[in-house]
Amino acid sequence: MSLDQTTFFIDGDWAAPATGDTIQVVSPHSEQVIATVPEGSNADIDAAVAAARRAFDSGPWPRMSPEERIEVVQNFSNLYAGKLGEMAELISTEMGAPLSFSNLAQAPAPWMQIEAFLGIARAYPWEETRAGSLGEVIVRREPVGVVAAIPPWNVPQFTIMSKLVPALLAGCTIVVKPAPETPLDTYLMAEMLQEAGVPAGVVNIVAAGREAGAHLVAHPGVDKVAFTGSTAAGRKIAAVCGEQLKRVSLELGGKSAAIVLDDADLAATMEGLKFTALMNSGQACVAQTRILASRANYAAVVDALAETVSGMAVGDPLDPATEIGPMVAQRQQERVEKYIALGQEEGARVVVGGNGMPDGLSSGWYVRPTVFADVDNRMRIAQEEIFGPVLSVIPFDDVADAVRIANDSEYGLAGTVWTADVEAGLDVARQVRTGTYGVNTYTMDFAAPFGGYKSSGVGREFGPEGLSHYTELKSIYKP
Ligand code: NAD
Repeated sequence: MSLDQTTFFIDGDWAAPATGDTIQVVSPHSEQVIATVPEGSNADIDAAVAAARRAFDSGPWPRMSPEERIEVVQNFSNLYAGKLGEMAELISTEMGAPLSFSNLAQAPAPWMQIEAFLGIARAYPWEETRAGSLGEVIVRREPVGVVAAIPPWNVPQFTIMSKLVPALLAGCTIVVKPAPETPLDTYLMAEMLQEAGVPAGVVNIVAAGREAGAHLVAHPGVDKVAFTGSTAAGRKIAAVCGEQLKRVSLELGGKSAAIVLDDADLAATMEGLKFTALMNSGQACVAQTRILASRANYAAVVDALAETVSGMAVGDPLDPATEIGPMVAQRQQERVEKYIALGQEEGARVVVGGNGMPDGLSSGWYVRPTVFADVDNRMRIAQEEIFGPVLSVIPFDDVADAVRIANDSEYGLAGTVWTADVEAGLDVARQVRTGTYGVNTYTMDFAAPFGGYKSSGVGREFGPEGLSHYTELKSIYKP
């Protein structure tokens, strides 16, 4: 099957691009071009925003009842449920996530989000009457308008669905600008939206790079920007939205800490860290890449981690046994290698990995999963987001010191504590300044808000809180 595309999804149909510019999607494993798709220009973004604007200002979608919209989104969900395997494989093919991860997080999790938002929308107080101090007040939640959704490449459907679905349920219309590394999954998604009966212009999709992304953010036809990506891009986007007083939500980077208390079951902790620290080959915003261990337990944790990481299967993302795949792009491979070299320069000790290709691999954008010991939290490898399979083990004196180190970060997205004493774990959880936290586990629950403190973002996705970002509140005073 050819994965090539020649059109964008605009105004409910497949639209010819304004220019002949193209994006080549390259397999991170084979380094071969697997598809060519059009690259969106500013003119394509203009066409997509115009369609979304028309659909919002005069189309049926914002004027339908929440129940009618729920029915259409339920159709979409049912179609999506039938495509989970295809979607997971497509995403692994385009960006190199191990299929074992994609079969969990790249397709089933986006579908679970749709179902969770459907449940939330069914119970949501779209319009309520309050007994006010002067009389009755109707409080309405109306759609915020035309939404620009800008996802990254690492979990493309996951980060699109957290914006698309609440936007649709609230009655918004939307322009999605996928990252140039991962346009292919959005074509499969567009087919399902069309078949589900989403009216023309309600969802428009134009894959493009940063420049067109910036054009979309600044576009006067856009009412709200929903962004997931790097903190650097998030700052620029927030500045533009601030200037224009546009609604904005930002899901940004992280440098989360896993605190291993002395009473933790080390084998179970290592099994947990394989996922929470190294999911998606370390290309995850929530990855807990700082592993905090007490001085007394430090050597045991370093040894256990070294053994665990060196035993992980690195290779072809489509091999179901693979646990660590390639980096998304050559520039990402180079970035990770630079950080590995930097860690050594800073005086950290490589206990597993280091630069060079993993054993048995001679091509593809692979790096060796790497564990650094003797890391000081002030080192750049402990402060900056590497976005690859590179872990730093940092010693702490006592639990208060562990909390201090976990909080000594520009970021505040996620974290875990590993302990036999769940109450002690909850006590730690309450002290770490991050938007999400796990005790002996890390899972995102789509019923609960997700997002970051500090430079990890502004606003929350998921849960009723995530739906509220797509609504404006209106109070109507009755006589
Ligand atoms: P990126 O910021 O380079 O790009 C993200 C998206 O924004 C892409 O679609 C890109 O084309 C677009 N973009 C970049 N600059 C822009 C600008 N000035 N205006 C408009 N659009 C712009 O990030 P990336 O490398 O694709 O993704 C990795 C980053 O995403 C990491 O920092 C990671 O932590 C973060 N991330 C965060 C979450 C979260 O929920 N907090 C989830 C996944 C990834």
